[in-house]
Amino acid sequence: MIIILCAPSGSGKSTMVRHLLDSYPGKYELSISATTRAPRGQEQHGKEYYFISREEFEQHIQQNDFIEYEQVYEGLYYGTLKSEIDRIQSAGRTIVFDIDVKGGINIKRIFGDEAVSIFIAPPSVEELSRRLYSRGDTSEDMIQKRLAKAEIEMADAPYFDYIVVNDDLATAKAELDLLINQKQ
Ligand code: 5GP
Repeated sequence: MIIILCAPSGSGKSTMVRHLLDSYPGKYELSISATTRAPRGQEQHGKEYYFISREEFEQHIQQNDFIEYEQVYEGLYYGTLKSEIDRIQSAGRTIVFDIDVKGGINIKRIFGDEAVSIFIAPPSVEELSRRLYSRGDTSEDMIQKRLAKAEIEMADAPYFDYIVVNDDLATAKAELDLLINQKQ
């Protein structure tokens, strides 16, 4: 069983992912992606991401080591190494993917019925905008970029097995639990 969680930024996805991992200790494990972007703040290699150079990333592409990869933002690569899936599955755990919408759709295509793909949607773009502004830690330019990306990503929601609207966090968490438990 593979769980794919995707959402536009500001939809409360990280909170939902945390909830899932914390509610069932030892059952789920987050797939760690490789990226060529630099670590931010306290981020550590092997924890949030495998931070690798562009040369190393391109070498992995040539060796066909990725199950999927993408240039999410200009010039920055993000991808899931096949070895990451082997690592989690051989530990007997369920993989959780927390990746962007395009990546999520690709993973679902590869794993088919073995995977359940869940789109976490904000109640509306207006609400998403309100949430991004109320965080107060993002520039106007970045908020506009994220909102534009969110609108495009919301259009892909129908490609997912399920859509959970994150209006009220407790309800959304309960819905997620229900979906996942049904599937196992
Ligand atoms: P950030 O740089 O903010 O950590 O992530 C930027 C974007 O890349 C997010 O939308 C995140 O979900 C996406 N992302 C992270 N890992 C992967 C991956 O392995 N594949 C794809 N396609 N997207 C990823």
